[in-house]
Amino acid sequence: MFNALVLEKEPTFQATLKSVEDDFLPEGDVTVDIEYSTLNYKDGLAITNRAPVVRTWPMVPGIDGSGVVRESGHPLWKKGDRVILNGWGVGETHRGCFAERGRFSGDWLIRLPEAFQARDAMAIGTAGYTAMLCVMAVQDHGVRPGDGEVLVTGATGGVGSIAVLLLAQLGYRVVAVTGKASEAAYLSGLGASAVLERAEFSQQGRPLQKERWSAVVDCVGSHTLANVCAQTRYGGVVAACGLAQGGDFPSSVMPFILRSVTLRGVDSVMAPRALRERAWDRLAKELAPSSLATVVSEVSLSGAVEAAHRLMQGEVRGRVVVRVAE
Ligand code: NDP
Repeated sequence: MFNALVLEKEPTFQATLKSVEDDFLPEGDVTVDIEYSTLNYKDGLAITNRAPVVRTWPMVPGIDGSGVVRESGHPLWKKGDRVILNGWGVGETHRGCFAERGRFSGDWLIRLPEAFQARDAMAIGTAGYTAMLCVMAVQDHGVRPGDGEVLVTGATGGVGSIAVLLLAQLGYRVVAVTGKASEAAYLSGLGASAVLERAEFSQQGRPLQKERWSAVVDCVGSHTLANVCAQTRYGGVVAACGLAQGGDFPSSVMPFILRSVTLRGVDSVMAPRALRERAWDRLAKELAPSSLATVVSEVSLSGAVEAAHRLMQGEVRGRVVVRVAE
């Protein structure tokens, strides 16, 4: 028997911590004893039933997990290996990591870098790995620290916080956009050189505006994404990864056809293994776990539902790791 947070939709939606048997585990060739998971925006949506994230029921949420291989029928993995799992539909179509045990395809797992413990990897989680994918998109586009300011929206969130930290460490001058004016000192502590009000970006704006940013990491979509595209400098890049404001994109083609702005989509869920490994390798080299001290808070599995509600109400700063193993 092992503990799992189980989401059910009949007779009405509920999220309950339950003791379940091994036959509750889904298909897969590797069974993992999960030590830590983490609360991502998508988990918040699933646990609070705010959006149709869950596709098969009953579901165990938790798109991220880290722990130790318990049993393996996959050539890459053996008992005792320390692994990370991010995405691949886990917590959406395949039972996820808010459970003491999980079963997955061995193709989905990557090795825990030596620099990290399981908790460190989950302090980073999909949010941090997505932040690194966005940083890589900015760098791959050729934007260098001397080229001008880089904007990060949704900056106190999980992706935003780690994007600010990574970019500042690389020498970029980072401007953070937040709805939480009280967190300006937190953002400066991560390396932001200026902090701007979310309200300046969230309403409909003109299709072309004053050129300000050499690059943008956008976590919120909607009018904010349209405005930051309209403010990006000639030849710059906008790495779009999120929709915290909305999934719409009420923009025009003007920034793309008159300023050669590139809108670069960033997806972590189905990213190929080689790209994941490149991102995690860089995180292991560039992100000391101690640098996340102000970013991370921790809850137990039994505290995850309450934390998910706080996340959805915009009351969480940074990252929440979920201690799965008691
Ligand atoms: P968080 O909930 O931790 O952060 C989201 C942040 O967005 C909030 O902290 C807040 O920051 C800001 N925000 C919230 N509501 C609004 C709003 N109505 N308008 C404008 N800004 C708002 O989520 P994550 O950082 O984990 O994820 C951010 C986004 O990225 C989510 O949409 C998520 O689904 C997406 N995502 C996408 C991935 C991918 O593979 N493409 C992977 C991971 C996440 P502040 O108060 O500072 O403004």
